[in-house]
Amino acid sequence: MPTILIIEDEPELVKVLRSYLEQAGFSVISAARGDAGLASWESRKPDLVILDLNLPGMDGLDVARQIRRKANTPIIILTARVEEADELIGLEIGADDYIPKPFSPRVVVARVRALLRRSEPGTVAKILRIAGLEIDLDSHTVTRDGMLIDLTPTEFNLLATMAGQPGRAFNRLQLLEASQGTTYEGYERTIDAHIKNLRAKIEPDPRNPQYIETVFGIGYRFARAS
Ligand code: CA
Repeated sequence: MPTILIIEDEPELVKVLRSYLEQAGFSVISAARGDAGLASWESRKPDLVILDLNLPGMDGLDVARQIRRKANTPIIILTARVEEADELIGLEIGADDYIPKPFSPRVVVARVRALLRRSEPGTVAKILRIAGLEIDLDSHTVTRDGMLIDLTPTEFNLLATMAGQPGRAFNRLQLLEASQGTTYEGYERTIDAHIKNLRAKIEPDPRNPQYIETVFGIGYRFARAS
């Protein structure tokens, strides 16, 4: 039974989320402060974290940074600050998803399921090797010229999807579906932020990408090996 850690200081929200998640078969732990949440993450090693931004004790962004410094635990951020979405899933913070407040608990459960599904290791051992980049679909590791590159589950899935079919242009909705297992209208722009982060991690020169190309008016594609 996967364990979900909710770090949120509004007791009513925690209550509702806990009830929906438990009904969906998850084990739920919670913390009402940022610092206590980080301590719970350390001691309980949850499979996924649902994180509020405005928290007493320690800001949600700091909690996310601290977690990312040590592990790739999937993080879903809850926020009323939607205009900051790009930064929320930014390189430094590395959250995998965000859900604007107010939200439907059903949406949260669906997103939790999708995130956990795509962070599961694959069952078929397979390695994609393209121009110095090595993508191990089994262990979910990526190396460039032998150096390990640390990707979040979302970034890994985006990369694996595109690199699996070099030269094919994917639109944002297709990438959203491939990386999250489902589509939500209005979330296509999060793909741009994930691509930006991915480029910063895998491209020798992110301003002049050689792996992930922009296809104007459509979306993105992984370059064919030259
Ligand atoms: Ca709050």
